[in-house]
Amino acid sequence: MMPAMARPAATAIVAAFAVLFGAAAGASAHGGRGLVGGGAVASAAAADDAAMVRTRSRYFGAANVDQRTGAVRRDRVIFSWFGVANFALAIRGHVVLLDAWIPRGAFSGYVPATTDELAALRPELILIGHAHFDHAADATPLAVATGAPLAGTAEHCADLRARASGPALPPRCIELFGRDAPRGSQATPQLLRGVEVTALKHLHSGATRPDRSEPYHVPVIPLPTTTSLEHPPTPSDMIAVVGHLPDAEGGNVLYRFRVGDLSLVWHDTSGPAADYAPGLFDKLRALRSVDVQLGAIQGFNQFTNGMRDPRQYIEALAPRLFVPTHHDDWAPGVTTRAVNYRSYFYDELAKIPAERRPQVRFIADPEDYVRPDALTFPVRLEPVQLVRRCAGRGRLRVRLVGDVADVVAARFRLPGARARRDAVAPFAVTLVRRGAARARVVATVTDVDGNARTLTRSAPRCGRAAPR
Ligand SMILES: [Zn+2]
Ligand SMILES: [Zn+2]
Repeated sequence: MMPAMARPAATAIVAAFAVLFGAAAGASAHGGRGLVGGGAVASAAAADDAAMVRTRSRYFGAANVDQRTGAVRRDRVIFSWFGVANFALAIRGHVVLLDAWIPRGAFSGYVPATTDELAALRPELILIGHAHFDHAADATPLAVATGAPLAGTAEHCADLRARASGPALPPRCIELFGRDAPRGSQATPQLLRGVEVTALKHLHSGATRPDRSEPYHVPVIPLPTTTSLEHPPTPSDMIAVVGHLPDAEGGNVLYRFRVGDLSLVWHDTSGPAADYAPGLFDKLRALRSVDVQLGAIQGFNQFTNGMRDPRQYIEALAPRLFVPTHHDDWAPGVTTRAVNYRSYFYDELAKIPAERRPQVRFIADPEDYVRPDALTFPVRLEPVQLVRRCAGRGRLRVRLVGDVADVVAARFRLPGARARRDAVAPFAVTLVRRGAARARVVATVTDVDGNARTLTRSAPRCGRAAPR
């Protein structure tokens, strides 16, 4: 489904880019199938172990990455920004891309990231918020190079799969929503072990008539920058982006992630729900409580309604911490630097009563690109514990409690009883005990990385065993 304002909005940005790129647009906009993302991504980049460890260390912080295996700490959530609202995310040890495009075209080398690096991160999943070029132009080549599935709407999947060219097979794509699913539709796909993912269809930013119901919305006018003079474009970057200017949005998906005691929301656009989908606010409120919200504050409504739409998303989700995104200079000539949004954003935020106003971590370009310590959050996972209770007649019921999502198997032993193994949550068995008056029950717990550890508890006698 195409939100009401999306088509004019997309047309406006294509027009802006056409002006920006001049003759290159005319020559290449219909160049077609040869133009996939910013060029092919070498699959070798994803295959090199040393490069994986090195790249994960840069994107997620060396202290959070096992320097031998490249595994990322499970008790951290880390976002590494590579432009627009696009992040490499480490969550419970999973590496995921949230959208996939490194800004380039009107400039080159401003964002210190490359598609080869994103491939070397070895993401296991690429989540799509929407499929405009500034969010998804690199998605298909990265999915092909890494084998990571894409996930988004049926429309995203159809478009992104169709972009695979040459000998490459179309990448796998998980359809979270059927074609034309209405705004407000929700899905809870099983995508990442130990992480609860909720996907909500919402709407793209779009210009609407000035909202008279509130005192005044500051018109946000981007200030010109010198970014493309400082980072002049390469011809191949210019041509590649022009081929993607008409990419369709394909619907908009907001994601909430819950892991341990942490709840996080990411949305790569903020739409005028007040005008077109007021029911959406109830859906957003239902996603509370939210600890961290990463949300787009730049959009097509900024000229008439300032930052009303992002602020209303914030009010509905009521996060403890808000992180603005999409406010960087990703298309110099059309956009500006994040710092120029600062005062507009804080003025808008001041409309939220102080007691309900979130903390803000205002990331800015270029200094916060690929700076994991800017957005690293500790997660408290319930420790895995062994519990037991008598079930009568010498039977002892034992099981693991706590956050067992990383456990793949548990083996339980008790003197005088036959050992039992369980490889399915909730990891519970009954041991029938004969003999020894005092004993301890022992569980050997193996996690997804193959590490084993031992948990021990005293074992009561539990009455007389049933005769054999
Ligand atoms: Zn868009
Ligand atoms: Zn965008």
